[in-house]
Amino acid sequence: MPSPAVCASAQDLIAALHFVDPARLAQARVEATARPLAYALGSGEADEVALFAGLKPLLRQVLPAAELPAARARFGRLGLALGETSHRVSGPSTGGTVLFVGRDERRVREAIACEASADHDLELGRLLGYPRCCVEAYLELPPPRHNVDAFHRAFAASRQFAPRLNCLDLSIFHFISWLPCSFDCATSKAWADAVAHHLTARHGQFLGGARGASPPPCPPGCRHERFVAEVDLALGAHRLLAFEDVQVSITGPLEDGVLEVGRAWPSARDRHPQAPLNEQAREASARLAALVARARGVFVRDGALFADGVPIFQARDARLFPFGARPQEASRAG
Ligand SMILES: [Zn+2]
Ligand SMILES: [Zn+2]
Repeated sequence: MPSPAVCASAQDLIAALHFVDPARLAQARVEATARPLAYALGSGEADEVALFAGLKPLLRQVLPAAELPAARARFGRLGLALGETSHRVSGPSTGGTVLFVGRDERRVREAIACEASADHDLELGRLLGYPRCCVEAYLELPPPRHNVDAFHRAFAASRQFAPRLNCLDLSIFHFISWLPCSFDCATSKAWADAVAHHLTARHGQFLGGARGASPPPCPPGCRHERFVAEVDLALGAHRLLAFEDVQVSITGPLEDGVLEVGRAWPSARDRHPQAPLNEQAREASARLAALVARARGVFVRDGALFADGVPIFQARDARLFPFGARPQEASRAG
């Protein structure tokens, strides 16, 4: 059996997948940029929905100075308590101001004090309303903590894969705003379902009501409800992750640890319309989707992707997350 190409980057993967079917590739390239989901809100805004729904006590956002006035005005109009402080660690990715928003002024003040303390992760997680199991699992990872490491850890701890806990691509809408301890964490699941329910049934009403009028509840089939249905479909496909920014969504049944491919598309298709993806990641995602779409069955073993039994490439982070599995299939996902 040939040994698979070892890939350390999207560039490597593009080279390794030089042979994919041109027609499939052309289609996958279109899908990688398509963005057909009608986003009713930003990819990371579940946090705000949870705050408005009363599920979440406090929101923390790190904002560049230019965006601060608009955010203050928006939350202020909704009658929420606001507080801000500078970011504890300053660097290119962490520059900006930390804005806390909550219903309770005292909690906002506590959070500002907490932000300044050196070892604040557990306490800040509590104030923000994150599940303790998930915060602890995250903190057990050795720093620097990469998202993919947290995904692998959660993968190993999961017996099932709840689609609404699929946060593998943070530019696709996700119902939880922390990295879960497992993809069947009961606390996280209950939270995600509550956010989905609020978004479907009451979110439009809340935002409308906050502007002073008292609008009727959203009618059945409103854009929020349609959005949740579309997101559920996107998150409920199996997810092949090669790198954090190179992912492919796949439908189909799992049989004896092999995913029988129905449809495959670059997951970036389901991202928020304004979420960019760099050119190499986009091309690698398209090639990977084209490869998988042509295969009858795929699986990942020890970081190697097998298509129809042939090892294609190997990457440290490669995993197949069976979010599309029916409950009885999940334990056999490999
Ligand atoms: Zn948890
Ligand atoms: Zn609505």
